[in-house]
Amino acid sequence: MKKQSNLSRLMDYAGNYRYFTYASWVLSAVSALVALVPFVYIWMILRDALNAAPNYAQAVNIPHYGWMAVLFAVLSYLIYIAALMCSHLSAFRVATNLRLAVSEHLAVLPLGFAEKFGSGKLRKIIHESTGAAETYLAHQLPDQYNAIATPVGLLVLLLAFDWRLGLLSLAPVVLAFLIMATMTGKRMVEKMRQYGNALEAMSNEAVEYVRGIPVVKTFGQSVFSFKKFKATIDEYEKWVISYTKDLRLPMMFYTAAVNGVFAFLIAGGLLFTRSGVTPEFLLNLLFYIIITPVISLTLTRMMYMSESKMVVADALARIDSVLEAAPMQVQAVPQHPQDASVALRDVRFSYDGKTEVIKGVSMDIKPGQTVALVGPSGGGKSTLASLICRFFDVQGGSIAIGGADVRSTPKEELMDTVAFVFQNSRLLKGSILDNVRLGKPDATEDEVLAALKTAQCMDIIEKFPDGIHTVIGSKGVYLSGGEQQRIAIARAMLKNAPILILDEATAFADPDNEAKVQAAFARLAKGKTVLMIAHRLSTVANADCIYVVQDGQIAEFGTKDELCTQNGLFARMWQEYQASVQWKVAKEGER
Ligand code: ADP
Repeated sequence: MKKQSNLSRLMDYAGNYRYFTYASWVLSAVSALVALVPFVYIWMILRDALNAAPNYAQAVNIPHYGWMAVLFAVLSYLIYIAALMCSHLSAFRVATNLRLAVSEHLAVLPLGFAEKFGSGKLRKIIHESTGAAETYLAHQLPDQYNAIATPVGLLVLLLAFDWRLGLLSLAPVVLAFLIMATMTGKRMVEKMRQYGNALEAMSNEAVEYVRGIPVVKTFGQSVFSFKKFKATIDEYEKWVISYTKDLRLPMMFYTAAVNGVFAFLIAGGLLFTRSGVTPEFLLNLLFYIIITPVISLTLTRMMYMSESKMVVADALARIDSVLEAAPMQVQAVPQHPQDASVALRDVRFSYDGKTEVIKGVSMDIKPGQTVALVGPSGGGKSTLASLICRFFDVQGGSIAIGGADVRSTPKEELMDTVAFVFQNSRLLKGSILDNVRLGKPDATEDEVLAALKTAQCMDIIEKFPDGIHTVIGSKGVYLSGGEQQRIAIARAMLKNAPILILDEATAFADPDNEAKVQAAFARLAKGKTVLMIAHRLSTVANADCIYVVQDGQIAEFGTKDELCTQNGLFARMWQEYQASVQWKVAKEGER
C-alpha cells in the first residue's frame, strides 16, 4: 500500500473543512502577489521624482501613486486575514478530530497502556502534537503558499525592470537554497528526531518525577528517581548541543546570504556603472535595493517551511505511536462470570515481547477465599495482579473469573466484578467525594460518607474545613501515601465488587496510618474473594493459601503451616520475620 502523505492524512481529519484549507492557500498566494503591487507604484514614484529633479513640484502624480501603494498594501492584508480565517476553521477541526481519535483509541487500549507508555508522553501527544498539526495548517501552510507566490511575482518584477540587477539579486537566493538543502537533509532529519525523542523523554520523566513527589517522600526514593530524571536531562543536553553545533555553520552562511543581497547589488552596480551612471539605472538600482527585504523575508519563510514540515511529520508519527497500539480484543461471544472465583491456567506474559516476566503460572482461588502473594521484589506479583484486572492481556494461557475468560467478559462487567487498590492508586485532581464516587457514580453523599467511615478516613475528612468537598491536589491539600490508599479503599468499598485485588503498601510514614490501613483492608475484605500482594508477613498468617512468586513462577504454595514445614523459601522468610519480630520485642523491652 502506498504511504499516504502527511498532508492528505491531515485533510482526512478535516473532512469537508478541507475546502477551507484549499481556499486559504489560494487567498494567501493572491495576497502575496497583491503585496508586490505597491512596489510598482514606488518605482513610479522614484521615476517621476528623478525625472522632475530638482523641480519636485512638477511631479504631480506622486501623491496619487502613494495612495495607490497604500491601498494595495491594505488590500493584501485584508486578503491575508481572509486566508487565515479559512485556514483556522479547518485547522481547529483537524486538531479536534485528532484529539478525539487519540482519546477514542485510548478507550479501547489495555488499561495498562497509559502506565506503560508514560502519562507525560501521552499528555504531550494529545496537546502538543495535535497542536503542532494545528499550527501547521493554520499558519505555516498558508504562509508556504505565500512564500511560493512571492518569488514567482518577484521574478517577473525583477527581470522586467533590469534583468542584470534581477539576476544579481537572485544569486543569493540560489546560494541560500543550496545551504538550506544541507540543513534539512536526511542526516539532519534523523538528528532532529533524536532531539525530539530526548526532549520527550525528559519532559516525561519531569512529569513523573513531580507527580511522584508524594511517593518519593513517603518511600524515601529520592536518589533513585532523581537519577532517572538526570539521565534524561544529560541525554537531552547531548542531542541539543550536537544538533545546534551541526546547524551553526550552515545557519551562519545562510543568514549571510539572505541578508547580503545588498552586497551583491552594490557590487554589481559598481561594475555596471564604470562608464557612467544613467538616471534609468539609478532608478532601477534604488528600486532593487528597496525590494531586497522582501527577498530576505521570503527566504526566511521558506526555511521555516521545511522546518515546519519536519515538525508536523514528527508530530504525526508520535500520534501514530498511540493510534497504532493494538486495541484489546473483543470477543464476539461474550461470557459472563458465574461466581467470585479466579482461575489462572499456565499464564505467560512479557512487557516487551521478549523477556517473559510471568512464566507459566496456574492458580485456583475459590469464591470467598483470601489468597496472599509473597516473594522477592521483581518476582512478578504486581504483574499477576494487573493481568487479573486485565490491565494487559496474557500472551499465553488464560485467566478466568467466575468461569468466564477475562478476554471474553464485557469490560463493564469485568470492572463490576473486580475492584483493586494498588500502591500507586493515584487519586484524580478533584474532590474527595468525586474520587470515592468513581467506584459507584450514582452513589449518594451519605453512601460515600459511610464508605469513607468504614475505610477509616474520618480523620482525613476532619482535617480539612471543606470535608469531603476538599479538592485533592489544590493548595495546601497534601495526602500521605497511606491516606491516599485509605481513600482508594473507600472507593473500592463503595464499588462493592465480589473480587478484590489489594496491593499492601510497603512502608508507612507512621504506625497510626499503618494500623488504619490494615483495619480498612480487613473491613473491605469481609465476605469477598481477596487476592493480596503482601509485603509484610504478619498479614499472611490467616490467608487460605499463600503463593510464593519467584522469578515469574510459583515456587511453592499452601497455608502458612504447610509452607513452614516444607523448609522452602517461605519457611526461610518466615524464620527471618519471626527473628525480626522477636528482636523488635526485645528492643522494646530494653526501653
Ligand atoms: P513484584 O510485584 O513481585 O515486585 P513486578 O510484577 O513488579 O514484581 O515485576 C516483575 C518483572 O516485570 C520485573 O522484572 C520488572 O522489572 C518487570 N516490570 C514490571 N513492570 C513493568 C513495566 N511496566 N514495563 C516493563 N517491565 C516491567
